[in-house]
Amino acid sequence: MDYKSTLSVCPYCGCGCSFYLETIDGKLVGTKPSATSPVNNGKLCVKGWKVHEFVQSPRRLTNPLLRKNGELVEVSWDEALDYVADKLKKIKAEHGPDSIAFLASAKITNEDNYVLQKFARAGVGTNNVDHCARL
Ligand code: SF4
Repeated sequence: MDYKSTLSVCPYCGCGCSFYLETIDGKLVGTKPSATSPVNNGKLCVKGWKVHEFVQSPRRLTNPLLRKNGELVEVSWDEALDYVADKLKKIKAEHGPDSIAFLASAKITNEDNYVLQKFARAGVGTNNVDHCARL
């Protein structure tokens, strides 16, 4: 049995609590708060305590889905991104850039959020950008 405890940062919100992800033979089995983190000082909220569960959940979406003939079906990233790009171009051409809005997430990195707002403003031409922390 190969047990490991790996220091990491909670992905659920912007607080940045630290914890140790516990693995046995490469499988995530638990989360323990970091007692030395100045952010969370040995504590986690309920989301942090459960963080190891979503990674291997069978309910986790790991591929894009498109609705075809009323059914959600798995498609490749290329097909999904082409679909979204075509739709955004069509909506922008018919209704203007401010008919499109982008919602970012606290669960992604600052860099990902930066790229999203840059794409919205410089690529699409709208300032309609908001964030899940305000929802
Ligand atoms: S443990 Fe809770 S408060 Fe800390 S980063 Fe995760 S979600 Fe945020």
